[in-house]
Amino acid sequence: MTNRTAVITGASAGIGEATARALAASGFHVVLGARRLDRLEQLAADLSGIAHFLDVTDPASVAEFAQRIPECHVLVNNAGGARGLERVADADEGHWRWMWEVNVLGTLRMTKALLPKLIESGDGHVITVTSIAAHDVYDGGSGYTSAKHAQSALHRTLRSELLGDPVRITEIMPGLVETDFSANRFDGDTERAAAVYQGLTPLTAQDVAEVINFAATRPSHVNLDTIVMKPRDQYSGSRAHRV
Ligand code: NAP
Repeated sequence: MTNRTAVITGASAGIGEATARALAASGFHVVLGARRLDRLEQLAADLSGIAHFLDVTDPASVAEFAQRIPECHVLVNNAGGARGLERVADADEGHWRWMWEVNVLGTLRMTKALLPKLIESGDGHVITVTSIAAHDVYDGGSGYTSAKHAQSALHRTLRSELLGDPVRITEIMPGLVETDFSANRFDGDTERAAAVYQGLTPLTAQDVAEVINFAATRPSHVNLDTIVMKPRDQYSGSRAHRV
């Protein structure tokens, strides 16, 4: 597995950071992208990797990032998140725009930019972190669930379009994972964020990273198409057992 390069977006925290650690431990040369360069640089130093500023919502930033990467075997489209929990009647267009930009268009831009290098590698792999929100809907979640549905549709289309090219396509659909995700969703309200994970044991970023690493380290003829992973006590985006 050595001499292979893995690019991870949103590697400054949460699932992306844990994925960078897991892939580096498997021998990948890791290239980290996100906006908080100070955090990225520290992580890159720990992992003997490389950090570059990346804002997936800005086409110029994506182009500059891609241009600095000489080769790419694995692309982990992880940058993303949610904003707000408004019902459709009260939908906030600013929140919607942010969620569609980062999750959907961000994934589109990164994939388009790195696809030539993934194909050129002779053994490429696109791994996209969507969510169970890519197949569930829940009250107040329409901005996020619609963006994750669209991100998933984009990702699954690639599975068919790239048949015959040496590129694997894996979608990771996690349920509740305890990261900064909810604090970011609720604009820094940590009390509201903590309530999301109360009464059950959520997944950790490392749980998800181990699965991403597993998918990335299968032999190159093995394509894990879709992996759904949830805490034992979660059934769906709106139903969980809590004590
Ligand atoms: P997180 O801790 O909030 O991390 C989000 C990451 O995305 C950060 O590294 C952030 O870095 C990066 N990011 C945000 N906007 C960006 C932009 N414009 N350009 C580049 N990077 C950007 O959340 P997480 O839980 O690890 O989320 C990672 C992915 O998992 C997301 O796609 C999320 O939708 C998905 N997911 C999360 C859960 C969950 O329960 N936590 C469940 C299912 C799916 P900077 O701020 O430094 O740019």
